[in-house]
Amino acid sequence: MKQLYYDVKKCLGCKSCEIACAVAHSLTGDLFKAFKEEVLSLPRKKVLASKDKNYPVSCRHCKDPVCVDACMAAALVYDKEKGMVLHDDKRCVGCWMCVMVCPYGAIRPNIKTKLPLRCDKCKDKDEPSCVKACPTGAIIWQEELSLKV
Ligand code: SF4
Ligand code: SF4
Repeated sequence: MKQLYYDVKKCLGCKSCEIACAVAHSLTGDLFKAFKEEVLSLPRKKVLASKDKNYPVSCRHCKDPVCVDACMAAALVYDKEKGMVLHDDKRCVGCWMCVMVCPYGAIRPNIKTKLPLRCDKCKDKDEPSCVKACPTGAIIWQEELSLKV
């Protein structure tokens, strides 16, 4: 299955990926209309800056996800077939335990909806929107790498 990878050397910190993510998860899917939606769509990834480097951060869909273990409402599950952590909005109680335990800071709490926002790899599209939006090819969408140690 495919996963998102980042080449930090290529990242300009332009945040085009953040904007594309917010638009992709808006109701209208349109940049200009999305700003007028009642609940503003927020990006599920963020680009952090440190010294002279930029680091795009999003959910890694860990195979042993601590966010799933921490969820008292069983709203988060790891789907082995899809290779991703799924979230059930109806079960979620908005306690933010997942936000607190994620070691990558990959979950954004949406204070307005009381739901956690996490990368869903644009699951209904062939390719995540951030990949298309990145002007330098810093976001790579490819089959999972197996790291041998
Ligand atoms: S779109 Fe690409 S270059 Fe721009 S911030 Fe995101 S990863 Fe970096
Ligand atoms: S939210 Fe964090 S802990 Fe959970 S799967 Fe994503 S990266 Fe891993």
